[in-house]
Amino acid sequence: MPKTNERSRASGFSTHGKGGALTRREAIAVIGVACLALGGCSGGQAPDAADGAAATQPVVSDVPLRSEHQDDAAATDGTTAAATQPDASLQADAPTTPQAPSTVDINEDYRSGFYHGPKGTAYQKYIVLHDTEGDADPESVISWWDSNGNLVAAHFVVGKDGTVFQCVPLDTIAHHAGYGDTGHNALFGVPEDGRDDMAASVWIGPDFADYGMNAYSVGIEMVHIGGSGPYPEAQLDAVDALVAYLDAAFGLQSTIIDHKAWRSGNSDTSPEFATYLANYQDHRTHN
Ligand SMILES: [Zn+2]
Repeated sequence: MPKTNERSRASGFSTHGKGGALTRREAIAVIGVACLALGGCSGGQAPDAADGAAATQPVVSDVPLRSEHQDDAAATDGTTAAATQPDASLQADAPTTPQAPSTVDINEDYRSGFYHGPKGTAYQKYIVLHDTEGDADPESVISWWDSNGNLVAAHFVVGKDGTVFQCVPLDTIAHHAGYGDTGHNALFGVPEDGRDDMAASVWIGPDFADYGMNAYSVGIEMVHIGGSGPYPEAQLDAVDALVAYLDAAFGLQSTIIDHKAWRSGNSDTSPEFATYLANYQDHRTHN
């Protein structure tokens, strides 16, 4: 099976048309990286209606964090810097004392096989947090996604040591959220508008018929197995920095949810993350 390891020259936002690997298929059982599988896990959580309502107005920003030309240079060292402040009109709910660091080191490992359509800044509404449900490091996770034929990936993977890898550009749809509860497209304000090619998506039944989230979100996977203990501080600090980076890159504060908010019955994020999730939703850092 040909494997696409194309490395995009652009970090964050990039051009499209690199989906050559989208046609590959391989019937391999879905194991590991459970939260990205199309099935679900235990537990569930209904989304706060306010979350869905709060992000129904996409905000257009023409100020990506870096231009593609800047990306060319910055991509060489994997370092990014948050330089753009969100528009003042978007900060009604902003924390009064921002705590997030403004920089994050991102290792780019773009795989065009994960690209599922365009997602311009106007469509950015959510940051969806996931657990990998495995202990593999980010590089291994991405390689696994690329080899299993499911065409499923999140934009970012954050290791236990705080290492951050990105495998899908910010302006590109990734398949990380999959099908959500029937009715969630409307609840979350994420209509299916045809931008998502839905390649390799697998119908999981009438209770989970909505597929809009991928096209309006960025996915972050944290290397973690539910029930295995606390998330290391280094990992949480990296997620803090990544959230701040995304806020700056998009010029807005995306609504932060976990995967199970989109699809009830999914396992991630795990119960150990509940307090952190509440903190992220309140003031965008884990503590
Ligand atoms: Zn997940």
